[in-house]
Amino acid sequence: MMAATLVSPETVTVVDHWPEPVCGPDEVIVAVRGVGVCGSDLAVVSGRRAVPALPWVLGHEAFGVIQVVGPDVVDRRVGQRVVVEPNYPCLACGACRSGDTSGCRRRRAAGISEPGLLAERVAVPARFTWPVPDGLDDADAVCVEPFTVALNAVRMTGLRPGDPCLIVGAGSQGLLVVLAVLHAGGVPFVIEPQPGRRAFALQLGGADAGAAPDRRYPAVIETSGVPEAFEQALERAGDGGRLVVVGQSTRPARVSTFTLVQRRLTVRGCLIYDHPGGFRHTLATLAGHDLRPGRVLRERFDLAQASVAFAKAPDIAGKTWITLPRIEEPLS
Ligand SMILES: [Zn+2]
Ligand SMILES: [Zn+2]
Repeated sequence: MMAATLVSPETVTVVDHWPEPVCGPDEVIVAVRGVGVCGSDLAVVSGRRAVPALPWVLGHEAFGVIQVVGPDVVDRRVGQRVVVEPNYPCLACGACRSGDTSGCRRRRAAGISEPGLLAERVAVPARFTWPVPDGLDDADAVCVEPFTVALNAVRMTGLRPGDPCLIVGAGSQGLLVVLAVLHAGGVPFVIEPQPGRRAFALQLGGADAGAAPDRRYPAVIETSGVPEAFEQALERAGDGGRLVVVGQSTRPARVSTFTLVQRRLTVRGCLIYDHPGGFRHTLATLAGHDLRPGRVLRERFDLAQASVAFAKAPDIAGKTWITLPRIEEPLS
C-alpha cells in the first residue's frame, strides 16, 4: 500500500510497497481519507524532533473509515467514519488514573513514537477512534485533533464571555484558537508578522492586535513556538492575566521576573488534551454548533504529492492537508 515516509531529514518519499497493517485484537484498521499537516509533523520532517527509525511513516491528524474490526472490539463497526485520537496514554499510571492523561510518561503518539497515519490503511487502538456524525464533512473531521488542543488552551485561560484574548501566532493552531475563542464568547486579537496568515486570521473573525500595540490582555495564548514571541506574549499579559503556552522551542526565552511578579501572572503549558474528555467534548461541541473548523484548511494535496505538501506547508497561510483517493466506500 501507499504511505508517506520520512527517509532522512527533509526528504519525504511516498512509497507504494509499505507493509499492510496487522489488526490487533483490540484494534481497528482505518482506511485513511485525510490527514492534516501540523507543526509537530514539520519538526519531525526537519529532524528537529527525532523519531525511533527511518524510514518513518508521517502524520497524526487523521480521518477515515473503519475497514476491519479486531475480535475483541464490540463498539466499533466496519464502515464507520472516524477520527483518530493520535495520543495513546497507558491508562494505568498515576497521572492516567487521576484523569491527567496528557501527563502520562508512557504515552505513545502516532507519527512521533508510533508509526504515523499518512498511509492508505493504519491499525489504531479502537478506543482511540471516534465515530463522527455524517453532518461533519471531511475537512472538519481532519481538524478535530488540533481543534481539541485549541479548545483546551482557551479553557485553560479561564476566558469569560466578552473577554479579549490575545493570540500570538496565526499558524494553523493559532487560526483554530481564533475559532475557539469566538466559540467561548471571547474577542480574539491576533499578532502575526506574516501578512497572509494575519489576513486569514482576520477573515475568520480575529482583530488585528497591531492596531493597539500597548494594549494588555487578561488572557494570552502563545501558539508560534518562537521564544521571542513568548517574550512578547508575556509583555502583553495584563494584571492577574493568564498566559497559556501551546508553541514549543528548546531555545530559551527571556522572562522578567519583575513583570511576572508585579503583574501577578499565571503561565501554564498546554500539552494536547486528556483522554477521553478532550475528544468527547470537541465532538459534542461540533455536533451542537456550526463551527466548521475545516475553514482553516487552505491547500490540499493528494497522497502522491505528500513531499510537496510538507515542503510547502511552512509557507502556506492556513492549514495544509493531504487526502487519499476514496477506493473503499463504507460497506455499512
Ligand atoms: Zn498536530
Ligand atoms: Zn499513563
